[in-house]
Amino acid sequence: MKKTVKDIIVKDKKVIVRCDFNVPMIDGAITDDTRIKAALPTIEYLIAEGAKVILMSHMGRPKGEPKMEFTLAPVAERLSQYLKKDVKFVSSPVVVDDSVKAAAENLASGEVLLIENVRFRKEETDNDPGFAKELASLAEIFVQDAFGTAHRAHASTAGIAEYLPCVSGFLIEKEVKFLGEAVEAPKRPFLAIMGGAKVGDKIPVIENLITKVDTLIIGGGMSYTFFKAMGLEIGKSILDEGNIGLAAELLKKAKDNGVEILLPVDVVTAAEFSNDAERVVVDFDKIPADREGMDIGPKTRELYGKAIAEAATVVWNGPMGVFELPNFAEGTKAVASYMADSDAVTIIGGGDSAAAVEQMGFADKMTHISTGGGASLEFLEGKELPGIAVIEDK
Ligand code: ADP
Ligand code: MG
Repeated sequence: MKKTVKDIIVKDKKVIVRCDFNVPMIDGAITDDTRIKAALPTIEYLIAEGAKVILMSHMGRPKGEPKMEFTLAPVAERLSQYLKKDVKFVSSPVVVDDSVKAAAENLASGEVLLIENVRFRKEETDNDPGFAKELASLAEIFVQDAFGTAHRAHASTAGIAEYLPCVSGFLIEKEVKFLGEAVEAPKRPFLAIMGGAKVGDKIPVIENLITKVDTLIIGGGMSYTFFKAMGLEIGKSILDEGNIGLAAELLKKAKDNGVEILLPVDVVTAAEFSNDAERVVVDFDKIPADREGMDIGPKTRELYGKAIAEAATVVWNGPMGVFELPNFAEGTKAVASYMADSDAVTIIGGGDSAAAVEQMGFADKMTHISTGGGASLEFLEGKELPGIAVIEDK
């Protein structure tokens, strides 16, 4: 078990928190502040406990230079609104300088300071010890709460922990609890649902899960690479050419491990990649040469629904079809809906799957939706994430 903010005394201490404020912006305006809202519980707890709170994050890709289009100023403003108190923001082109140090030093208990985008310094992504030390010099305790970057060993996510005691915030605590339990000690039957476009991106996840799950569902764009590996015609469907061999190996590995694999039994096809294209449902082994698979079909939805209903843990990564086109979103919607209705522990990992579940209105019916796309995938691969490894054990 990892230590959390609740396991230490933070009163009157300077606490530096690595948050994920990497919010989408258009012309200096925040277009989606989900990540800011997600960070609030940890910050509010620290304020209530009388800590002196210093926040840091990256945003976008300023590539190690103080490019002001990536300033965190709009984040400070939004935070002030949500916290109903003034969040001090001291912008320095070098992130930490004398004015930033003075602001940190002069914080009163319960006050909040945000420092500038840590990626204004190229030493951040190099995990440079000098920069990590500069960040650490601002505080007495380091709180790790940025799951989205926990798979990166950077100065603000890993290096800083060399110089300060490190505990997790509530966001990381939740991610580690649900993703960790699902992979290491799942309630059985354990079902994993994999989809999305590219087999290559997901192979390491499938390889890890195949030794742990009872049933593996493969849907979405990646199923055609598996069909190809089985020697079937897939028409113009998306194919990950370089991974046909690996797909065949995974099918064999599943068999060797006694894992049941479910592939689509029917697919919704189209003659071109367009929402207005005519939809024709065909059996999985009868895809015409001039059409492409865009979604799972009705028989498959029912089959997958049954598997979901029987499972006690369901981990889902990757949409079942081209859900961005409403006419080909039914498969993804059905899986989300079956999961929402189930009593199982339901976990969503992956950026597009999480977005689909939010969009379709099932978000509050899931046990856990991971906030880190790449980080949640690496977690499901069974890797130890550098930003989590540095958190002290209880
Ligand atoms: P996640 O972000 O949840 O890990 P991915 O990024 O792997 O998911 O995959 C999402 C993408 O896969 C979506 O853009 C979706 O349109 C695409 N996709 C799903 N099924 C198909 C298909 N049959 N053909 C083409 N693209 C597909
Ligand atoms: Mg994606």
